Amino acid sequence: MDNEQRQQTVDAIRQNLETDAILGASEVPVAKAAKAPVGAPQTDSPPKPRRPVGPDEADKTKRLEALANEHLTDCRKCQLAQERNKVVFGQGSADTELVFVGEAPGAEEDKQGLAFVGRAGQLLTRMIQAMGITRDDVYICNVLKCRPPGNRTPSTDEIAACSPYLMEQVQIIAPKVIVALGAPASQTLLATKTSIGQLRGRFHDFYPSGSPLVGQPVKLMPTYHPAYLLRNPADKNKVWDDLKIVMTELGLPIPQKHR
Ligand code: URA
Repeated sequence: MDNEQRQQTVDAIRQNLETDAILGASEVPVAKAAKAPVGAPQTDSPPKPRRPVGPDEADKTKRLEALANEHLTDCRKCQLAQERNKVVFGQGSADTELVFVGEAPGAEEDKQGLAFVGRAGQLLTRMIQAMGITRDDVYICNVLKCRPPGNRTPSTDEIAACSPYLMEQVQIIAPKVIVALGAPASQTLLATKTSIGQLRGRFHDFYPSGSPLVGQPVKLMPTYHPAYLLRNPADKNKVWDDLKIVMTELGLPIPQKHR
């Protein structure tokens, strides 16, 4: 191994260690949660992707509740209705600038009726905390609202039946940025078959109306799914790179040592 190769190896190990410290189980640089009510003047707390509480947020919360109660609690649009335990609509702040979209609920989510509460969800929580914010500051949901048996890949029919709910959620929330977690979420939202490895690392325009001719695009950042990261921890640094681009877009400070 020559000096240059040795230096490259040292740099790679250092970067992995730094990323592990950010997205790993230990030493997560969690910003202190704001104690003051959201919207109140905050002197020393970091910026949040939540907009100030106002009539708009109450309205968005009500519209999301109406969508869930009127259309989803007893949805029978696809075969997943037969085996699901609970519909997993999504949860978090209705008035956020940042939405995370996963693929479909797993076993734990199906049991609790909440998105990303299993092992992958715990890693997602750490990813969000590493951004200096909390799960309450963002909105988290999935392309599919019901669990595919055995966590199999969603079928085209299931995605076609369920994705209008997601589009409506996004239209109500009107976030500035969407982070699409994994290939199914990214490819569904961007209507592409391009691999996640090629999609990630930069923003893509996403049109919640379904047409580039109608409405404003939302910036969509595809990145690896936390369940993939549990199996491939070496790729955590790529996800952290993606999240830093998102943080910059949202004006969230990146800790000096993690730039
Ligand atoms: N994986 C997902 O894509 N969504 C969840 O809610 C949980 C695991």
